[in-house]
Amino acid sequence: MLNDKKIVFSRKLSDSSSVNDVLDDLLIALGGLEDKAGPGDIVLIKPNFVAPFPKATTDLVFIDFFIDKIRQCGATPVVGETSGYEFDTEGTFKILGVDAFLKQKGVELINFETQQYVKIDIGQGFKPVEVAEIATQAKLIINLPVLKGHSITKVTGATKNLFGFLSKSSRRYLHCHRLENSISALARYFTNVIHIVDARHLLSRAVFGEPAPLGFCLAGKNSFAIDHFGSKLLGISPDSVKYLSDTPGYEIDGALPGDLTDCRKEDSLKQKLHRAMYVTFYFVDYIKCKVFKGESIIPSLHWYLGIHPEIGSVSDEELKILAGRCPVGAIDVEKRKIIREKCIKVRCLQCYCQAEPEKIVLKGFGRPKGNKK
Ligand code: SF4
Repeated sequence: MLNDKKIVFSRKLSDSSSVNDVLDDLLIALGGLEDKAGPGDIVLIKPNFVAPFPKATTDLVFIDFFIDKIRQCGATPVVGETSGYEFDTEGTFKILGVDAFLKQKGVELINFETQQYVKIDIGQGFKPVEVAEIATQAKLIINLPVLKGHSITKVTGATKNLFGFLSKSSRRYLHCHRLENSISALARYFTNVIHIVDARHLLSRAVFGEPAPLGFCLAGKNSFAIDHFGSKLLGISPDSVKYLSDTPGYEIDGALPGDLTDCRKEDSLKQKLHRAMYVTFYFVDYIKCKVFKGESIIPSLHWYLGIHPEIGSVSDEELKILAGRCPVGAIDVEKRKIIREKCIKVRCLQCYCQAEPEKIVLKGFGRPKGNKK
């Protein structure tokens, strides 16, 4: 029962620190890997590749470090993930460079959606849910999330990252049935997990957040304790985060920020509306898929109501360059438009980020103020 220990190991980690030194220190604090896995064992690395945005996703340096450590103790590392509901997993792997990186390391990359799911009982009155089979077979799971704010659950970190094991139909079901309870129940189901959380940046939202420096890296065996502390680092009162409501007492070992008292309990009206909109999205999608079957409408809802790019004042010449860089060929230079059907599951915003302000503009609810980078 790895996640019984309630110590949060907290270390300073800025962009200029040596990631490997900090991870080494944290792994020693966690007792190393040698007694947790050995020859013949599979160790599953569970990153967070929710969307094709490098700042919102697991840094490949973290994965690189753990691949080497797993191999040193004779076990076999495997990396597995499914992207967020509204993004395409293969496209996300490609844009983040994950597939090329792991190929070069000789490590198997599993898109859970293309592999076997098995049903597990997470208790608390939920129907059995489908999780990636490899997650139930691994001797050890190394959970590598990024600490962020979240549109529905307020905070996402170690606990919610395990939601990525679920099939999309089970995610759809749980999003409409006591989501917060299901996040807790799923995290409690997996007891062979160590968590190392990248909290270097203050990201107010899971995907389209504007990063600010935060400078921490957290580790531990109890995901609730880590997220409770992480929530304070984000300036969000953990008392207002439902899935953290029965977090047990825990100790902090290591770095503390200057002031942890200024935590926001109440959301602004805009945040409440934002949350209500996303909850409604999932409910409508659940009903649609249950009654009419067929594909999820979440990507379309995100496209029309969420952030998406539109061609602005960019010249034809510059547009041609941006079109050449678009990973899915979604820019029609002749018609000067974004091809929705191609962009919809990726929405990497690389065209927006690479162009001068106003040349490519962002549309949709929740876009950054001033439509600037
Ligand atoms: S059109 Fe822009 S946002 Fe859409 S996939 Fe291409 S580069 Fe990414």
